[in-house]
Amino acid sequence: MTRDTETTAIEAALEALLAEHDPKVEAHHEFRGHQYDAGLAWVHFPVGFGGLGIRPDLQKMVERRLREAGAEGADPGSFFLALAGPTIVTHGTDEQRNRFLRPMFTGQERWCQLFSEPGAGSDFAGLAAKAIRDGDEWIVNGQKVWNTIAHLADWGMLVTRSNPQAPKHKGMTYFAVDMHSDGLEVRPLRQITGEAEFNEVYLTDVRIPDDNRIGAEGEGWRVSLTTLMNERSTIGGGGGAPKRGSGPIAELVNVWKALPEDRKSAAQKDHLMKIWVRAECQRLTNIRAGGNRKAGNPGPEGSTAKLAMAELNKELFELAIDLLGADALVGYDYTYRRPESLSTEGIEHGVRHAFLRVRANSIEGGTSEIMRNILGEQVLGLPGEPRIDKDVPWISVPRS
Ligand SMILES: Cc1cc2nc3c(=O)[nH]c(=O)nc-3n(C[C@H](O)[C@H](O)[C@H](O)COP(=O)(O)OP(=O)(O)OC[C@H]3O[C@@H](n4cnc5c(N)ncnc54)[C@H](O)[C@@H]3O)c2cc1C
Repeated sequence: MTRDTETTAIEAALEALLAEHDPKVEAHHEFRGHQYDAGLAWVHFPVGFGGLGIRPDLQKMVERRLREAGAEGADPGSFFLALAGPTIVTHGTDEQRNRFLRPMFTGQERWCQLFSEPGAGSDFAGLAAKAIRDGDEWIVNGQKVWNTIAHLADWGMLVTRSNPQAPKHKGMTYFAVDMHSDGLEVRPLRQITGEAEFNEVYLTDVRIPDDNRIGAEGEGWRVSLTTLMNERSTIGGGGGAPKRGSGPIAELVNVWKALPEDRKSAAQKDHLMKIWVRAECQRLTNIRAGGNRKAGNPGPEGSTAKLAMAELNKELFELAIDLLGADALVGYDYTYRRPESLSTEGIEHGVRHAFLRVRANSIEGGTSEIMRNILGEQVLGLPGEPRIDKDVPWISVPRS
C-alpha cells in the first residue's frame, strides 16, 4: 500500500470500529478486543493478528483518535505486551499468535520477562536455567531475578540453556511459560523506593509443553534480541510522541514554579533550561526515529533513546530534589507494597519517589554502559570488545 492508501485504510478501520463500539460505554478489555479484531492493536502486524500490515508510525494516529473518542490506553500492568507481542508475531507460529496476542492486548493475560539471572544480567547470553526435553515437554530448573511485575503475570517470556555443549549464544531456547505452573515460585524483592515492583522467580522441575516454545530449539538468542530491541525502544519512549513539555520535564518545571522567588538562583535556572532543551531534543529525536521506522522491529538505534532517557531522567530528578532542598527529605511514603502496575519513571507518586525510581532507568533493559557498547559497535561501527568466550562451549566457560 502507498502512504495515502495506508492512511485511508486506518481511517476507514477507525470509523468502522467507533461506529459499532463506544469506548466510553464498553468495558476496557472488551473494547480493546474489538480494537484488536479491527487490526488496530499493532497496525504493522499481519492482518488477522491485530494488524493491517501497515507502517508502524501510523499507530500514533490510531492512539490519538481513540483517546479522543474516550478509550483508555493499555493498563500499565500490561507493560510487557510491548515486548512479548512483537516477539511472538515475529518468531511464533500462527497457533501461538492466535493463542497469545489477543488476550495479551486486551490485558486479560499479563506477561513478564524472565531473562536475567544472578550470574547473567549484562551477559544475558551466559544464562544457566536448564531446559531438558522430555517427549512433548521440557523440564526447566533454575533461578531468574529482577522480574518486574512477575507477581501479576499469567505468562512469562522465559529463556533457558537447552544445550550446554554449544557456545553460549547457540544453546538457548525461548518459551512462553505459564506463571501458574507447578514448581514456579515468585518471591518479592524490595527496591530503594520501598516497593517490591520486581521479584525473583524459582523454577523447580517446571514442565512446559513444546507447543509453547517460541522459535526453534537453540534459537533463543535470536528470539531474545527481538524482545530486547523492543524493550529498549519502549523504555526510551521511542514509540510515542508525548506533548512538548509533558512527562518528567513538566514535573521539574512545576517544582521550579512552586519555589519562592528568593530560593531561585540564576545558576539553577540555567541548569533547568539546559535540561528542558535536552528533553525537547530527545522528544523530537524519538518522533523522527519513529517516522523513519518503516516496518518491523526497532534496530540497535533504539538504544539511543533508552540511553538518553535514562541519563536525562536521573539528572532531571536530581535537580528537582536539589531545588526542594530540605523539603525533599520529608513527606516520602516508604511503605512496603507490591504495586499493581508499572511506571519506569514513577512520577505518579511525586518527585521524591521518581528520584529514587529513575536510578533504575540506567540498569533495567540493559545498563547505560551496555547501551554505549551497542551504539559504538553496531551503529558507529567501532571495534568490538574482546569476547573470548564466544566460540567456546558454554559448559567450559568458568562461572562465578
Ligand atoms: C528496575 C529493574 C527492573 C528489571 N526488570 C527486569 C525484568 O523484568 N526481567 C529481567 O529479566 N531483568 C530485569 N532487570 C534486570 C536488568 O536487565 C539487569 O539488572 C541488567 O541487565 C544488568 O545486569 P546485572 O544487574 O546482572 O548487572 P551486571 O551485568 O553484573 O553489571 C554490573 C555493572 O557492570 C557493568 N558492565 C557489565 N558488563 C559490561 C561491559 N561489557 N562493558 C561495560 N560495563 C559493563 C554494568 O554496566 C554495571 O554497571 C531489571 C532491573 C531493574 C533495575
